[in-house]
Amino acid sequence: MTKAPTAGRPRPAANPDTRFFWDAAFERRLAVQRCSACRALRHPPGPACPECHSLDWEVSDVSGRGTLYSYTVLHHPPAPGFDGPAVIAVVDLEEGVRMVSNVVGADPATLTIGEALEVCFEEYVGWTVPQFRRPAAREAVR
Ligand SMILES: [Zn+2]
Repeated sequence: MTKAPTAGRPRPAANPDTRFFWDAAFERRLAVQRCSACRALRHPPGPACPECHSLDWEVSDVSGRGTLYSYTVLHHPPAPGFDGPAVIAVVDLEEGVRMVSNVVGADPATLTIGEALEVCFEEYVGWTVPQFRRPAAREAVR
């Protein structure tokens, strides 16, 4: 089973384009950018819309529900702050945005492409990182 990150995990660097993402995570919300001009959602955060090149954007909360698009398991070298293998995953959010994150709390050998995931939040002192896990309802019946 993949263990959750430990306290040694490096703190992500925030900049004017990404601060909203980390601020939302600290409040246990998952948020992405929405173009103010064409309304397209996008992630990762950036200064301009890849669809229409507008520099105007707003923050849009998303559900945190998605599916596993792809993943890899990092065994060696050990990922800083992870106690054991780290699952680096690409998650398709139900809003149509793709996000790179981690899957925690699941044996990597049992992960299935396309399976449902939901966001969860790992809290550290002063910051929080969104990650993904199998939905709680599924865990309850396993
Ligand atoms: Zn746009």
